[in-house]
Amino acid sequence: MPGVLAEPCPLCDRADARAVHARPFAGRRWELARCRGCGLHFTAPTPTPDDLSDFYAGDYHAGLRRPGAAEAAFGDKYRRYADALGRHLRSGRVVDVGCSTGLLVRLLRDRGYDAEGVELNAASAAWGQKHYGVPIHAEALEGGRYAPGSLDAVLLTDVLEHTPHPAEFLRGVGRLLAPGGLVFVTFPDIGSAESWYQYLLSKAFRRDWLWATCHVPLHVWEFTRRSAEGTFAAAGFGVAEFRRHHPRRPPPPGGLLKVLSLPTRPLGWPVVRRLFGTQMEFVLRKAD
Ligand SMILES: [Zn+2]
Repeated sequence: MPGVLAEPCPLCDRADARAVHARPFAGRRWELARCRGCGLHFTAPTPTPDDLSDFYAGDYHAGLRRPGAAEAAFGDKYRRYADALGRHLRSGRVVDVGCSTGLLVRLLRDRGYDAEGVELNAASAAWGQKHYGVPIHAEALEGGRYAPGSLDAVLLTDVLEHTPHPAEFLRGVGRLLAPGGLVFVTFPDIGSAESWYQYLLSKAFRRDWLWATCHVPLHVWEFTRRSAEGTFAAAGFGVAEFRRHHPRRPPPPGGLLKVLSLPTRPLGWPVVRRLFGTQMEFVLRKAD
């Protein structure tokens, strides 16, 4: 059962983090720990870079390498992301990190940005480069291609929480940005109304997977708005814009799961999702 954890918080180093959830994955047991100091949620034990590459060993993009697939799955979301960036930056050199097949890169180029993508899945990078006619490099952002201070914005959409040390990664991004440069960041809120509801269901029914907004161990850190803003500040960024959204999810096919999902349906309504949606979207500005 979950309990007090020996591992210190990777953000504030406090040593009294508590395991609040446990889940088997890839033949091992992983816990979600919550720091009582800063509120950060993190996977314990911390996945190593080798663990993380094992997690993604399968070809998880294969379905996106078909004409129209990314447009259907992500078109609306990517237009919203481009709108968010556009409220703060009209042109400039922009990199989308973990761009998969590069639809967002295409969209940004169509809006006049000098945009390119980096994507570790070489097959997706090659397919997207050809299909959308955009530059996609099958390498890590920190691989040396980009000179310090050379970028105007970096997009990290559902990326940061998968990196081995998000605060350190973000500091590295900051070094690549020009003064006043921007980062657009998205990830789910582990403290959202939906997340709390699913957490309580998972306890009541003793089924760890019912907490679907909890992604241990794939998410190395899970953020609340507070712990996210703490992480951004520690990495040298201020928040220029914060919005919430709630992803449209098809209802479960039927039976008990469908009934259990009913209380979360209002989160899809426009006003409700802006206030209580699970997905958080931040525009960050590099501090001087
Ligand atoms: Zn902490």
